[in-house]
Amino acid sequence: MNNGKLLLHPASTPSELPARRQLAEHLNALGATQAPSPYHPEQLLPGERFLRLVTFMGCSPHIRLEPESPDDDGYCYLTLCGPHPSPLLRHGSNTRPPLCHHCRKPIVNGQHHDFSGALPCPKCGERNTLEQLDWKHNAGAARLFVEIHNIFPGEAIPTPEFLNDMSRLIRGRWDYFFLLQESDG
Ligand SMILES: [Zn+2]
Repeated sequence: MNNGKLLLHPASTPSELPARRQLAEHLNALGATQAPSPYHPEQLLPGERFLRLVTFMGCSPHIRLEPESPDDDGYCYLTLCGPHPSPLLRHGSNTRPPLCHHCRKPIVNGQHHDFSGALPCPKCGERNTLEQLDWKHNAGAARLFVEIHNIFPGEAIPTPEFLNDMSRLIRGRWDYFFLLQESDG
């Protein structure tokens, strides 16, 4: 059973994104990942420095870093998503209405808006682009994601060092969010 995901992404959309292979090599060089799973090549096993790049909160978690069998997808692994031609908004059962970047009031049903244009705030009228909305780490939009599987919302967060290391690959700040039971579309 999949218990949720921690996703890392560039906070704003640069004009050029690295190819997926470049992203994979960067994560390997950081020690965030190592070889792919022997059973599922898209699942990247956590690398030797993974537990220094991601901080687990609270008491020592029951975390498994390797699959126990070919059909085991309940362990902690990484996948890459993108680059996509345009930003993708991803949300799940944990997502709450986003906050307007101007007045900080929640915009109800903000995740169901068609984001081909900016989203006007019903309170202050200011327009929000997809990237300007504050989802409080419970949804996010980007053209590229690093997904860490089987992380419950709030269970673990990337260290500032990890986010900085990622910004060496793509100039600009990186951010993160959690998804529980990701919604389609
Ligand atoms: Zn507003």
